[in-house]
Amino acid sequence: MSTPTDPDKSCRLCPRLAAFLDEQRAACPDWFNAPVPSFGCPDARLLIVGLAPGKHGANRTGRPFTGDWAGDILYAMLDEFGFSEGRFDARPDDGLRLIDCMITNAVRCLPPKNKPISTEIRACSQHLERRIDELPNLRVIMALGRIAHDSVLIALDERRSAYPFAHGSRRHVARFTLFDSYHCSRYNTNTRRLTAEMFRKVFSEIRQELGES
Ligand code: SF4
Repeated sequence: MSTPTDPDKSCRLCPRLAAFLDEQRAACPDWFNAPVPSFGCPDARLLIVGLAPGKHGANRTGRPFTGDWAGDILYAMLDEFGFSEGRFDARPDDGLRLIDCMITNAVRCLPPKNKPISTEIRACSQHLERRIDELPNLRVIMALGRIAHDSVLIALDERRSAYPFAHGSRRHVARFTLFDSYHCSRYNTNTRRLTAEMFRKVFSEIRQELGES
């Protein structure tokens, strides 16, 4: 379900992405094919920021990280560290609830080849900024990958050169603690750039930062 902080379904601020979604709607009319709203708890202290909807994941189902490989890995970690309850079944109607956590994407529309361009990242950062502003209890932000990391810095109006992306880093940025992790994409996990142990370690530090659930 979208919230007032989510972009309007008809947002066309990024002409290339809007045209790409038009093509997807024609090809797969049963899919979500629109800016994907955030998912989670409005009182969340943790915000997880991904890159953009995956074609067969969020762009198909309409819920971030739902329906593809990256989501299977992310939701398993959320379960393990007490940030969710219920059974994740890769469907937006599986009844899963996030606890103290919200998930969003730096870019809300499906980009061709999973690669948004800089003007699109900057345009969509206004939605991320609003998302952050509208979480009154937010303390920790987890950025999945460099683009998500940079989008967070843009949204917080911080200099990117002062905080280069680094997997496993924990830094104070503005009034938040920012954790970086490589994105849990199929490519990163298959090539072992990100192993389950590496991902678990970042979650473990976030859990420590926020205290037990
Ligand atoms: S990526 Fe964001 S800003 Fe661009 S069209 Fe989609 S919702 Fe709008």
